Amino acid sequence: EESTEDMRRSMDSMEEKGAQLLIANREAMESNRLKSQFLANISHEVRTPLNAILGYTKTLKKGITDPQNQLYIETIQQSTNNLLAIIGDILDFSKIEAGKLSLENGHFNLKKLVDEVYQTLSINLLSNNKDIDLIPDFQTDMPEWFIGDSTRVRQILNNLIGNAIKFTHQGSIRTKVSVIANGDKKINLSFQIIDTGIGIPEDKIDRLFKPFSQVDTSTTRQFGGTGLGLVITKKLVEQMNGTIDVSSTSGVGSTFRFTLTLKVSNKQQNQYAPLEK
Ligand code: ADP
Repeated sequence: EESTEDMRRSMDSMEEKGAQLLIANREAMESNRLKSQFLANISHEVRTPLNAILGYTKTLKKGITDPQNQLYIETIQQSTNNLLAIIGDILDFSKIEAGKLSLENGHFNLKKLVDEVYQTLSINLLSNNKDIDLIPDFQTDMPEWFIGDSTRVRQILNNLIGNAIKFTHQGSIRTKVSVIANGDKKINLSFQIIDTGIGIPEDKIDRLFKPFSQVDTSTTRQFGGTGLGLVITKKLVEQMNGTIDVSSTSGVGSTFRFTLTLKVSNKQQNQYAPLEK
């Protein structure tokens, strides 16, 4: 009889623990939701004044002739743009966490897009005195026009090529694009961003695609960054039915590989023309 009593007591306590866990879980989910919401709100609130700073800086720049002052105002512009990029990453990350990141479709020319990314990022080469060749390397006879989210494809390339430039002192950054499989209307593409940079230590590779991870965590960090770029990049690639991985040798360089499945556009349209509904 005593043992039945014991059993009932232990079952009661198990039930109680279960209920407690359920409550704790619900609270954790709610606090996660609040965190995502908070990040999204903050990002929005910070973006508005930053855009005002950027706008008025542009206006002020026109009236400035003194070279020293011009340099100051360019630094303000550059710093504001950096802040906007960080805020953009935080906003994207919170959208990803909340499962609210959605893709949009349009026609775009992939070769042109890679050229544009190279062109924008080559400004960094000049200002950092780096001697790096930026080499686009497209398989010949592959289609040029695709249907997909060109803004997000640009963001993926921008992150990976931007990192490649950031962590390379000299040599080259090759963007190799080739066709893996050519379906009826869809095409499976392989991208490789190959750099001749500092490389990534083997024991750090596993953590690369996890939030906030950076290889150099010393307080005297040489390179800036939020550690969100690769997390966002991976998520975007996965949303386009692709995969991403990296191979790297310390001191020799890194290769980031990813695949994307895109629809082939049969229209040689104006770049980024919206898809008609
Ligand atoms: P961050 O914005 O801090 O650069 P990322 O997620 O883009 O964040 O990258 C995370 C870390 O991965 C970087 O801080 C760097 O240590 C390492 N990394 C990424 N790409 C490269 C590369 N091409 N060469 C060497 N290290 C890299």
